[in-house]
Amino acid sequence: MMNQQAMRIAALSAICLLAGCSSNTMAAQNSVASAPAQVHTLSVNDHKTVPGNTEAAASRLSASKTGTTTMKTVTHPEAIDVLVNKQNKLPENYTPRDLVYADVRFTFKEKIEKRKMRKEAAAALKQMFAAADQDRVPLAGVSAYRSHARQKAIFEGYVRRDGEAKARTYSAYPGTSEHETGLAIDVSGSNGRCAATGCFAGTKEAKWLAKNAPAYGFIIRYPKGKESITGYTYEPWHLRYVGKSIAGEISRKQLTLEEYTAQQSTASSPSS
Ligand SMILES: [Zn+2]
Repeated sequence: MMNQQAMRIAALSAICLLAGCSSNTMAAQNSVASAPAQVHTLSVNDHKTVPGNTEAAASRLSASKTGTTTMKTVTHPEAIDVLVNKQNKLPENYTPRDLVYADVRFTFKEKIEKRKMRKEAAAALKQMFAAADQDRVPLAGVSAYRSHARQKAIFEGYVRRDGEAKARTYSAYPGTSEHETGLAIDVSGSNGRCAATGCFAGTKEAKWLAKNAPAYGFIIRYPKGKESITGYTYEPWHLRYVGKSIAGEISRKQLTLEEYTAQQSTASSPSS
């Protein structure tokens, strides 16, 4: 085992010498070197890596990138319950076909891409914001849709600054950001305070969203205590539209979209 591994590393190093050390090759080397530990960390239900453990996270993500095991491309990117995460990426250059400008308050004035959501999600968002207004907890959108090109530009900027392994610990690899689905939005209070940052947790807006968002088809996508499953730290501001029925079930059973999806696939596959 070790000999085989050593040989693979040697082979990769040779490629490295011949072709110049791209970050890809380096990532491949890392993943080969620590392959046995990663076999486990890669399956959704058995993540040992939690955010904060940046070195482990970086190494796990490098393994995904080599494509030997887990970075799958989703087959139905337009599905309302599509699972997009660090293991499941959208097809290259996927653009949702029914994007519209969400007709709600945002923390900025410009009519730009990040105001957009898919039609069904935008309509639900409008209803939810109206209900929050009635409850005197006015909300504002911070950032909704993000194109693949934009996510790529953002990510590449971080890679230039910090290197790829580090960038992957805090920025979504292009194709793996839920914002690219047009079904996700970061929400803050109408004053924009603590927008998409940790201090949003515990605010009256965060509490209102946790309690009421599922009734409008939205879930808190990265809940507290589920970091090892989602791969993200708690983000009380990041909402994902999945429709009322699924949002209701996810919230009632305190699941993540990962767990819900796994349950669905177990339920639909024949028992052996
Ligand atoms: Zn977000």
